[in-house]
Amino acid sequence: MNTETGKCKCGCGETPEWGDYVPGHDLRHRSQLIDRSGGVDKLAELLELVDAYAVGEIGEGDLGKGIRRLRAR
Ligand SMILES: [Zn+2]
Repeated sequence: MNTETGKCKCGCGETPEWGDYVPGHDLRHRSQLIDRSGGVDKLAELLELVDAYAVGEIGEGDLGKGIRRLRAR
């Protein structure tokens, strides 16, 4: 169970009997995240930016610019 709220992690507001999700809602959540990202390609680019920032390849300025560039498209 989601220990913070006990609610389904997809945001539907339902309470799973066990685990983090009402059955099937893990896939719903996955789709929501991809849609919110603007597509799986943009999600991949975002994660590449995060990884590059995490290992110090780019700084906060380039991270911010990269995020804004992704959002502008
Ligand atoms: Zn749900």
